[in-house]
Amino acid sequence: MRALTADEVRGSFVNATEPELERLELPWWFDATLWDTLDYLGWVDPALPERGYLVSETSFGVVGIILRLPKNRPRGRRALCNLCWTQHPGQGALLMVARRAGRAGLNHNTVGTYICADLACSLYLRGLRRAIGGGRMPETLDEDARVRRLRDNVEDFLARVVDSDAPRPV
Ligand SMILES: [Zn+2]
Repeated sequence: MRALTADEVRGSFVNATEPELERLELPWWFDATLWDTLDYLGWVDPALPERGYLVSETSFGVVGIILRLPKNRPRGRRALCNLCWTQHPGQGALLMVARRAGRAGLNHNTVGTYICADLACSLYLRGLRRAIGGGRMPETLDEDARVRRLRDNVEDFLARVVDSDAPRPV
């Protein structure tokens, strides 16, 4: 993805409250981000392990969302990331929930999906990080096609957070 500035990242959040934005910390490695290897910028809040952030460039602009990670994490079960299709043992992929933007969010309307717990889908797809005890789904797609699928899945998910009023299947 294109390299984003800190201001762009901070200004991209569509579902964050003022207090949430004020205490938002960029990841410690932000200045060393290897943007070429990323399809989205994702990190877990270092002080709040139940809060994650995902920022990506989409056809409707740079969009960032705050995600809620589960407090109780299941053990011993396999979970599949719905964005990159990496398979993880129990806690490696988590159901992450985003409050929708605008009026829908005020009504506690949320969308959720299973995402790699460290928000590092791009690294798994490129073989830069390995899912210990998990791995890739057996499939014939090459890396370029898997990256395209990841980007499409990220954009679809972000669209569901942004497009509060459109009815979509759950
Ligand atoms: Zn993933």
